[in-house]
Amino acid sequence: MEYRTSCRCVLAAYGLVVGLAANLTGRALADSPLPNAQPGLVRVLILSGEGGQAWRETTPALRRILAETGRFDVKVSESPQGLNAQTLAGFDLLIDNGAGLTPGSDSEKAVARFVESGKGLLVAHGALGGSALPAFWPVQPGDGDIPLPPVRFLEVTLAQPDHPIVRGMAPFRTADTFPRGLLSSRASETIANAVDVQGTGDDRKSPAIVVSRRGQGRFVYFALGHNLSAMHVPGFMTMFARGAEWAATGAVTLPAEPAPSRPAPGAVRGLLITGGHDHEASFYSLFEGYRDLDWLPVDASTTAFRNDLRNKYDVVIMYDFTRDMDDLGKKNLRDFVESGKGVVVLHHALLNYQAWPWWYEEVVGGRYRLSPEGKTPSSSVKDHQQISVTPQGEHPVTAGIEPFQITDEAYKRMWISDRVRPLLTTDNPACDPLLAWIGPSDKSRVVVIQLGHGHTAFGHPSYRTLVHNAILWAAGKNQ
Ligand SMILES: [Zn+2]
Repeated sequence: MEYRTSCRCVLAAYGLVVGLAANLTGRALADSPLPNAQPGLVRVLILSGEGGQAWRETTPALRRILAETGRFDVKVSESPQGLNAQTLAGFDLLIDNGAGLTPGSDSEKAVARFVESGKGLLVAHGALGGSALPAFWPVQPGDGDIPLPPVRFLEVTLAQPDHPIVRGMAPFRTADTFPRGLLSSRASETIANAVDVQGTGDDRKSPAIVVSRRGQGRFVYFALGHNLSAMHVPGFMTMFARGAEWAATGAVTLPAEPAPSRPAPGAVRGLLITGGHDHEASFYSLFEGYRDLDWLPVDASTTAFRNDLRNKYDVVIMYDFTRDMDDLGKKNLRDFVESGKGVVVLHHALLNYQAWPWWYEEVVGGRYRLSPEGKTPSSSVKDHQQISVTPQGEHPVTAGIEPFQITDEAYKRMWISDRVRPLLTTDNPACDPLLAWIGPSDKSRVVVIQLGHGHTAFGHPSYRTLVHNAILWAAGKNQ
């Protein structure tokens, strides 16, 4: 492969795109569980706090999905033990996203009576995983404790297309995972399935939405929504909100088509820099569908850094190849970095600014060698590699990412600083061992990802999650 400098990418079609649900930190959680809703809204209490740490991310996202429809008034309880008729009075719907309901407990009985009286319980993904589930749930554990498989591409198909939750919706594809081996309870009904499109075994298809009734009330089991990326897929948001409305009221008024996507308040402002190198148009799909991301594409680094960007953007995302920049551009980029803003360097942007040591030594912590340096030969590139990727340690950028396989282009013999913090490694001999890292800058949050040559990466669920996580973290979210 040769590196060209004449590429101008097709950008006109990608105006301001919008992004997604945003405040994904836990700071919106601490609402009083006391109902004080606007009249006419469905009053929801999300029960959270038990069963691992994922709820700190997923509960605010669920809350936002519901609140943004304008149909729900949503409260959150982080310590849902000791539920009784009094604490539940005034709500129409409970969402279990880690309530830790112990079978036989008074809380469990209170929830059962709440539903019987004509109300609803939605069991969300964050509630799953325990071995002892309340007997009244629409699903029950099968034989054995089957670990949650890694995130894969799933096709969400409609088993009951006329059910109000999914009526008018189309099947959709998502990158997600769901618990295996759960059995539908008797008298429950499967509304939608999730099919692992890469899978072959008997368990490649599993119920995604299961509903049942008790007394005058309704239960909905919702298997999907393992991480924030999965929760920001429009089909997920629509099904989740409609499932909540049906569980609470027995009817659905929310539309089958999601409202046009627009950035949520507080969305990350990203400047996406390309130019100087060919790339596939599907690259932009990495940034679409996220309401916590408001991004502007620009097709040349020199254009991007003509102005002071500090008040306009939270993060620059580099997928360009720029050999050099004038002094004004360098000053603006340096000011941006030193003001504490974020930088995400993707794939061939590792070739940038070969003659600017501050950039590759202090900010990026790595550089593709375009030519031999002393006895060290130039870096090498090899496409179509099967690469086994292993996350290293705990970091928000790799949160929710299991070891994965990807077909991508490998870089080898790069210069890499010993001051970087490893995020992803591989033992593929065509690659340097380090595939992603945090740059050494002590002023800015810098994420560097070597992977990302083409559609095999852009369409990979783990890569998509990785890039989304990297942008949020570099912008100062999810610290
Ligand atoms: Zn490439």
